[in-house]
Amino acid sequence: MAYQYDVIVIGTGPGGEGAAMQAGKHGKKVAVVERFHRIGGGCTHWGTIPSKALRFAIYRMTEVNANPLFREAGIAAEFEFPQLRKGAEAVIRQQEDMRRGFYEKNRIPIYSGHARFVDPHTIEIGEEKGAHEQITAESFVIAVGARPYRPADVDFNHPRIFDSDTILNLSFTPWSISIYGAGVSGCEYASMFRNLGCKLNLVNTRSQLLEFLDDEICDALSYHLREKGALIRHGEQYEKIEGNDDGVILSLKSGKKLKTDILLWANGRSGNTDDLGLENVGIEVDKRGQIHVDEAYRTSVPHIYAVGDVIGFPSLASAAYMQGRAASLHILGHESAKTIAKDIPTGIYTSPEISSVGPTERELTAAGVPYEIGHAQFRSLARAQITGQTVGMLKLLFHRETLAVLAVHCFGANASEIVHIGQAIMAQPAPNNTLMYFINTTFNYPTMAEAYRVAALNGYNRLF
Ligand SMILES: Cc1cc2nc3c(=O)[nH]c(=O)nc-3n(C[C@H](O)[C@H](O)[C@H](O)COP(=O)(O)OP(=O)(O)OC[C@H]3O[C@@H](n4cnc5c(N)ncnc54)[C@H](O)[C@@H]3O)c2cc1C
Repeated sequence: MAYQYDVIVIGTGPGGEGAAMQAGKHGKKVAVVERFHRIGGGCTHWGTIPSKALRFAIYRMTEVNANPLFREAGIAAEFEFPQLRKGAEAVIRQQEDMRRGFYEKNRIPIYSGHARFVDPHTIEIGEEKGAHEQITAESFVIAVGARPYRPADVDFNHPRIFDSDTILNLSFTPWSISIYGAGVSGCEYASMFRNLGCKLNLVNTRSQLLEFLDDEICDALSYHLREKGALIRHGEQYEKIEGNDDGVILSLKSGKKLKTDILLWANGRSGNTDDLGLENVGIEVDKRGQIHVDEAYRTSVPHIYAVGDVIGFPSLASAAYMQGRAASLHILGHESAKTIAKDIPTGIYTSPEISSVGPTERELTAAGVPYEIGHAQFRSLARAQITGQTVGMLKLLFHRETLAVLAVHCFGANASEIVHIGQAIMAQPAPNNTLMYFINTTFNYPTMAEAYRVAALNGYNRLF
């Protein structure tokens, strides 16, 4: 049977883009479908880009206000949330134009409308006007992303109750906020609102913040959030959330009640799989609407792949892009598809910023790996002293016999950049993955990269 396309990709977020570009550049006839009127996915329009641009705007404002030179000159920067949010628009436009250009250059048509499977090789594209078009392909990549999970007993139409999508439209800077859910988005928004000077309750349904991270990093995040004045409550579940004219009351099952100007719901996400016609092809989803895939990103129907947030953890733009590429590599017949989206680093834009790659101490201990630790505190680095960004630490975990670097855990300014130096060494085959690289390499001075030499020596000197 002749199909119109070799590959149809559903969604133009990082997952869809990675898949479309990989397949398109290697000779496949590709089409993409997007239901939003702009290109780039949730990542560009209501996730990564707007939240990171907002974070940077808040950071710049607090930096000006904390700078003694500006203070002496009587200069203070006071902006409301919507003004700070505005800066993101220019970045979003640039990102969108650039991404649209990628599709144009690679002659990949973009179909506009909601895609829905009719049968295993056909999708129907519904446009807003009601028109429908059907197109066929040999393979599909589902990259439809996810949205905030909204429990039925929370009134998200109330003007003081927000989720991670709607918070971007906040029209004022609140005096106080409760954030329910302390995952990555919850912790990132907690840092932003605290930096804006809002009174903040961070309500965690678990016993520790971001417990998938190394303990020392979790502890550092809790310590620094609390030091800045955030009130963190662990192990809580909501009983009731009531929106009133003068605020929101969050009643917890433990009996506590919190009242703040607004509430941000940051507890869980659901895959955008409803009305995708999956029942017509026999693909099942779990209770959060997520699709299960194998290590080549194939669903239970082998010619239909799924990547990005719709398959769940780690739900990062960085991972989605690589998963999309991996799916297309598999369609192209490459076995390497199974290895390119592995060892995904974590980048968390809290204050302090966090980043890590590789197992935690807990995981290495459980696996019985004989590892040793090397630390570098940012406060001892000349570069950090000059910039005043002395909060932070780099921690290397390495094998005490082979000296192979097993993991890099970092928090502090630019942690998400710093981690990649260690990642590059970790990715080398034996014997080139070695702690000795950091000991025997000349680092620019003063730099934050120097932390690697300090941490490596610190760890090496523990060996006997
Ligand atoms: C507040 C916030 C901050 C974040 N910060 C970061 C960060 O700093 N770093 C990071 O790596 N990640 C971050 N993320 C996560 C990141 O945004 C996602 O992991 C990423 O967007 C997932 O990419 P995706 O391609 O799977 O989906 P998306 O980017 O969501 O794209 C999915 C696309 O599919 C389209 N679509 C859906 N259904 C259909 C359909 N039936 N037909 C046609 N089109 C459809 C949607 O309109 C959308 O354009 C953040 C997320 C949030 C919410």
